[in-house]
Amino acid sequence: MTSQPHRDLSVLTVPAFNDNYLWVIHDGAHAAVVDPGDAGPIRDALTQHGLSLTAILLTHHHADHIGGVPSLLAQANVPVFGPRNDGIDGITHPLGEGDRITLPGLDLELDVLDVPGHTLGHIAYVRRSPGAHWLFCGDTLFAGGCGRLFEGTPSQMMDSLAKLAALPDDTLVYCAHEYTVSNLRFAQAVEPDNQGLALRMKDASEKRGTRLPTVPSTIGLERGTNPFLRATEPGIVQSLVDAGRLKPGASPVEAFAALREWKNVF
Ligand code: ZN
Ligand code: FE
Repeated sequence: MTSQPHRDLSVLTVPAFNDNYLWVIHDGAHAAVVDPGDAGPIRDALTQHGLSLTAILLTHHHADHIGGVPSLLAQANVPVFGPRNDGIDGITHPLGEGDRITLPGLDLELDVLDVPGHTLGHIAYVRRSPGAHWLFCGDTLFAGGCGRLFEGTPSQMMDSLAKLAALPDDTLVYCAHEYTVSNLRFAQAVEPDNQGLALRMKDASEKRGTRLPTVPSTIGLERGTNPFLRATEPGIVQSLVDAGRLKPGASPVEAFAALREWKNVF
């Protein structure tokens, strides 16, 4: 606790490209941006809300997450936090599992988790303030789904997702893409009797019908409806077996791998 009163923090949802979300964390004056794949929409959001950029946070090396960094740095020479092992140039604060950062200009501490799978060096950021649990997970966990395994193994991704699933139920999941409805369509195919999933699909479809974001979601909702956090549920294993994608008696990692491969072609 500090003796100074501090301003509440909030998070702006900044859509970019076809289906990316860039996140702006701010206190009404200072702002940190997460995964600025494109500088233009970030600059517009900063101007519109009267914010000055104080930090850049990166989760992994893909262009739709880092592409706007040079342009933002040309205007504001701010620190760049990012993964130590994901091949990104220009990171001033290289990070990995167990690191804790305090964002310049903001009363905000974030813990760093290693979450390999989508890329090998992918990291996630967690806010653990009482009553305000946040997760910025890039392309690791999505609403109703998970990222593709471009570099890591199914076993690595399964461990990474288990780490995220262990966060408190009320943790807000700020993922980087709006893939929710298509993810939930797949989820319903593998778990047709999940009532929570049916409700979630109805809610997500209504939101997308009016172009509203379906994110952030929560860890509790993901644990109940995201098949990639539920790959060992008997009903999901049975669906994989019925679809001829898994042998009976297979290991949890084999079930997870089969689920991910099925989604790739769904
Ligand atoms: Zn990516
Ligand atoms: Fe991405």
